[in-house]
This record gives sequence, structure tokens and C-alpha cells, in this order.
Amino acid sequence: MVRSFCPRCGNDTDIFIDNVCRQCFIGDKKLLECPLVIYATICPVCGSVFRKGKWQSKETENQVILDCVKDNLRINRDARNIDLTLIPEKLDHSRYQVHAGAKAEIRGISLDSGLDTEVRITWETCDTCSRISGGYFEGIVQIRADKRIPSKEELDKCISIAEEVAARAQEKGDRLAFIAKTVELDEGMDLYVGLIKLGKQICRAITDSFGGRFTESPKLVGQKNGEDLYRITFALRLPEFMRGDIISVDDTVIEVRSCGKQVSGIELETGKRFIENYSDLMLIKKLGNKQDAVLAVLISDEKTAIQVLDPVSYETVTIKRPEFLCAEPGDEIKIIKTAKGIYALPCAD
Ligand SMILES: [Zn+2]
Ligand SMILES: [Zn+2]
Repeated sequence: MVRSFCPRCGNDTDIFIDNVCRQCFIGDKKLLECPLVIYATICPVCGSVFRKGKWQSKETENQVILDCVKDNLRINRDARNIDLTLIPEKLDHSRYQVHAGAKAEIRGISLDSGLDTEVRITWETCDTCSRISGGYFEGIVQIRADKRIPSKEELDKCISIAEEVAARAQEKGDRLAFIAKTVELDEGMDLYVGLIKLGKQICRAITDSFGGRFTESPKLVGQKNGEDLYRITFALRLPEFMRGDIISVDDTVIEVRSCGKQVSGIELETGKRFIENYSDLMLIKKLGNKQDAVLAVLISDEKTAIQVLDPVSYETVTIKRPEFLCAEPGDEIKIIKTAKGIYALPCAD
């Protein structure tokens, strides 16, 4: 019988891989390779990372460190069924030790291997944060209301809508979609935005929610690389009337549901739906808001009229029966006293 031996180490063997024994074959293979030190550039303000030639939006610092190691780690190309684990350990403010361990197969032979690498963080302010700190902006969204001052609740809602829109745009990769600052004014609020596109998106979202309208006017502010540089002012007007306002249109009294290009609501006398183009309305006047409503006892309910007890004067008042009435005599219902008389309000309100 011919004994076979490994030409590399001289040991007896029956199994040859690439003409050497199993031990020699494994000894040749490096499953993992990685530089001893890896550098990562992270923005200290927002946590964004400079990766593959550009700033990328924030992940957790741990994730950034692991991604950095993955970018630099080389795994043997012949390896199959790779099981990689990375264990980071923070050494100090700017250094992480990461242990990489891998199990894999090369040509059917199982291997495992481990190594340590150090990730050093270079802290550098990113493009977005340096623009913000430098007061950079491309547009101003001026939030005002038509023929009135916007309420604090409306402005708070506008800010939260604007922040949501900006967050969504940033998630999609528009890193400059930031709100640089908000300025409260007697007549409303100004939002300074880092991107013209963001200004428009904010105006759309606010008018979708509140109604109202906006116009844009560009202003030349200089030149950059031979191109004109514009800033855009978005003049946004919240509608004159808000949801819940009680208004009169000619002689019809309406509780407003929405007010944009169209005014929609409920006619309080009859309970019928009201919807008209705002621009077609001539004599329009605010009488109050449904928050001014008071409770009154329903005394009687006839087919076309109801009687309620005025809670202040204790007089019995007869008004038309609105379609939405859903109470029995003896129940309390919401009424509103206006310059045009007393009206019952829909029960769902
Ligand atoms: Zn050998
Ligand atoms: Zn940053």
C-alpha cells in the first residue's frame, strides 16, 4: 500500500485539498482581515456619519461603529455559510474596540476566526449643522390668518405639521430639509427653512389641514458660481373662519366645519349641509364659536318647532326644529345665543 503524505508539511494524509493536507489548507486561509485601526467621521451635533463620500443621516452611534467595521472588514471570498458577530465596546468618548468573530466554510471545511479592531471617531460638524449654525436658509414661511390673528393652538399645530414634514423629507434623504428657526410675531409666525422645496411642502401640508392659501415670491439675494441665488417668501394665510366658528352668510347661520376655497358646515336652523365657494359669499360675519355654547332644557319637541328654556332669562324660546335634534323633552341640549337669535347645536359636537 502506498502511503500518501502532504508535500507541504510531510504529514500522512488521505485527504488532499489543493494538493495539501487539511491543516496546511486551513493554515493558508485567512477568513477575516481588517485594519487594526479604522477612522469614522461623525457629526457631534446631530450624529450623522460621513460614509462613502457623503454625509448620511443619523443612526445610533453603535450602529455607525458597526457599519464602519463592516465597510472595512474583508471576508475570504471562498467562504460560505458565514456567521459573523461584531461586539463593540466603548473605550472612551472617541474610541471603540470591536471584536469580530466569524464562522464559515471554505470548500466544505469549517473555519472560525476572530480579530479585534479599534474604531477612532473624528468629530466634525456636518454640512447641515454648519449651515444651521451659520444661519443659512433658503425660504421663509410667513404664517398669518385672513382678517384675524392666528390662535396659539393653530400656530402650535402649524409648527408640529412643519416639523413632521421636515422629518419626513430628511428621512427621504433631503438633509437640508431643516427648519432653521421659528420667529413668533404679533401677527403670526415665520418659519425659516433650509430648502425652498421644504417651504412649499410645509405650506401644502398646513393648507391641506386648515384650508387657506399661500403665495410665493422669490427674491434675488446674490450669486453663487455664476448662478442667481434666490430666497423665497411663502405668504400663507390661514382661513378667516375656523372649524367650530358660528357665522352668518346673508341670513343663514352656519356652524363651520371647514373653510378653505370652499366653506362647508351645518345650517343651524334646519340642520342641512352647507357648502359654497368662499369667493361667492357676500355678507359673511362671525357670530361666535361653538365653545360659547350653553346647556338648556328642551321643553317640548313638535314636528317643526322646539321649545327650550333660556338658562339665563328662564324664558321659553321657540325655535325651528333642526334635523339633527336627538334629544327628548326634559333633556339638556347645547344652544348658542347669537346676535341673530338662539340656535341648537348638533348633538355630536
Ligand atoms: Zn500539510
Ligand atoms: Zn450634523
